[in-house]
Amino acid sequence: MRVPKNQKKLHTKFIFITGGVLSSLGKGLAAASIGALLEARGLRVTLQKLDPYINVDPGTMNPFQHGEVYVTEDGTETDLDLGHYERFTSAQMSAKNNYTSGKIYYSVITKERKGVYLGGTVQIIPHVTDEIKAAILDLASSQIDVAIIEIGGTVGDIESLPFLEAIRQLGYELGKDNALYIHLTYVPYIKTAGELKTKPTQHSVKELRAIGIQPDILLCRTDRFLPPEIKKKIALFCNVEEEAVITAKDVECIYEIPLVFHQEGLDSKIMEYLNMWAREPDLSIWENIVKTFKNPKDEVTIAIVGKYVNLKDSYKSLNEALVHGGLANNLKVNLKFINADELTPENIEKQLKDVDGILVPGGFGIRGMEGKLLAINYARTKKIPFFGICLGMQLAVIEFARNVLGWKEANSTEFDKNTPYPVIYLMKEWYDYRKGCIEKRDEQCNLGGTMRLGAYPCKLLQNSKVWEAYQKDEIFERHRHRYEFNNAYRKDIEKAGLKVVGTSPDDQLVEIVELENHPWFIGVQFHPEFKSKPINPHPLFKAFIKASYEHKKQGG
Ligand code: GLN
Repeated sequence: MRVPKNQKKLHTKFIFITGGVLSSLGKGLAAASIGALLEARGLRVTLQKLDPYINVDPGTMNPFQHGEVYVTEDGTETDLDLGHYERFTSAQMSAKNNYTSGKIYYSVITKERKGVYLGGTVQIIPHVTDEIKAAILDLASSQIDVAIIEIGGTVGDIESLPFLEAIRQLGYELGKDNALYIHLTYVPYIKTAGELKTKPTQHSVKELRAIGIQPDILLCRTDRFLPPEIKKKIALFCNVEEEAVITAKDVECIYEIPLVFHQEGLDSKIMEYLNMWAREPDLSIWENIVKTFKNPKDEVTIAIVGKYVNLKDSYKSLNEALVHGGLANNLKVNLKFINADELTPENIEKQLKDVDGILVPGGFGIRGMEGKLLAINYARTKKIPFFGICLGMQLAVIEFARNVLGWKEANSTEFDKNTPYPVIYLMKEWYDYRKGCIEKRDEQCNLGGTMRLGAYPCKLLQNSKVWEAYQKDEIFERHRHRYEFNNAYRKDIEKAGLKVVGTSPDDQLVEIVELENHPWFIGVQFHPEFKSKPINPHPLFKAFIKASYEHKKQGG
């Protein structure tokens, strides 16, 4: 094939993943699963998400609309697909792995203001597309064999055009062996006709070709395996090889996707097209996970008392971490989402009496606070395993201060600036272990930079349940919050039985509290769910599910 003279000589090869027909077909999971398959063949991969929206980062986006904000080790607030990438592969995500149109445009406009373009007319092509290409090529290194780039949105959207143009150009510049286009489409089964329909796929590929991209491989999302004649038809109309028409069948367990893709021959097709050689994949880890998932010895029910309970995606990593905790104990975990707003002293018994464990997740704002406090009180007094995460930990401290210490107006200054007992408050200064300097905070500043974000060290107290779970003296966990436990009340709170069992190395920031004389009542200031993987379930989720199951076995 003709290779342009300016072809870049890079070790890394690129796979571009686009989506058609409609959203929510599972492009993120498809990208992550391809990563898993390539890693299973011994290749080193990384992934990147390019999001078409204008927000500069997903940090300030409403979880009701966009799902969870995933936080990486380096403290970047990213799209939830990066969570899938980390759960399915060993690639570690950072600021380089997620770009929005907003971030790209911001950088182009900043350059323009600084005079970088020397007064030239700044345009989508080439300036914006060059910026996108630079962000993609930035992933190339001798340490990475394949970079998988997922383009958010659906082909045909106005917003994603600059991204698609950028990957089209890259395909030309990198050459056939170094760039592969995979398109995810939808093949619905129409019940009344008793037929699988290929027309939406044909249209979506036509749309992609109109902007200059001929997909090499089609992933067809459908509820059944595509029969040969359907594959043949799609191949003919879409200009792809028949073996490159891959069934992306609905699955019961998302960790089955790499197995289904492999069964359909996806990874060997990728190897062939990218002209790479790698051993046959070792898929035993995924097979074991799926086997355990499908053959649990028993089940537990966990109540999640939160605010964003109506959109499943808002607690994506949390839901997965609970599943992982179940896998580690060979248990099926049933999640019972309870809207904290609707929990009252009158209905709490009915809502929580059948659950084996109670979890209050992170969140912002006062909504649902009273319901969450009720749930925490219920877990504390009835000795039901409790796991408080971030806001959930802060509320556990407030509940304890109010009802055990009798400080009825104890609160977080997030909710009551004038509380006489600010047990949770904004610290003006603290030592930032990541930056190695004192961080000062302006109390008026409410957005962005003032949050404690990303992985921080935490030392654990021996003879605690958390130490038992981690079996380590020091851990690193990811944060995303502004408010902290107020050390002024630490002595009193500990004396009354809520122990501080994890702190920053200088003992200034309280990271974990644990209740005495309770089977399992733990609150953590960080978000352990971001680091849980199916092949390596997070120790706290494993321990929480274990404790919940023991509670169940003892008759609830
Ligand atoms: N709103 C709380 C804070 O900012 C908790 C945040 C969270 O749960 N992620 O400190």
